[in-house]
Amino acid sequence: MRCPFCGGEETQVKDSRPTEDNTAIRRRRICNTCGGRFTTFERVQLRELMVLKRSGRRVPFDREKLMRSVQIAVRKRPVDPDKIERMVSGIVRQLESSGESEITAETIGNHVMEGLKGIDDVAYVRFASVYKNFREAKDFEALLDELSDPDSQALKDS
Ligand SMILES: [Zn+2]
Repeated sequence: MRCPFCGGEETQVKDSRPTEDNTAIRRRRICNTCGGRFTTFERVQLRELMVLKRSGRRVPFDREKLMRSVQIAVRKRPVDPDKIERMVSGIVRQLESSGESEITAETIGNHVMEGLKGIDDVAYVRFASVYKNFREAKDFEALLDELSDPDSQALKDS
């Protein structure tokens, strides 16, 4: 596993344990080169999911990208990170078990709004206000990119 800080290829697992809901293994790693610490997750992937964008383009579903957009919405909110992990895992499980191999970006956005509604009202409003404002010209891909961008105006100071 390559170090995200220095790109070094030699990293050691310092700690390895199941997540609270037992759907993943969380590993704490340390880089032999720079000493940087980071976490990796090992999960079951039932099958490859594709996201269908408004543009008609298909891209592989990316759990990390989804997670980043959710994390922007819950930024500085008193939300247990394990709850967010469970919510995202739940969404992925639902998508994987839907029987569809293609999911629209809108469907994913709706799942996220549903999930956030039960967790934190402010995070829900942040996500929904951006999500519901998107127009034809600005598809959900743009929204996700915006949410992933720490300099985004959309959620700044909200
Ligand atoms: Zn490193």
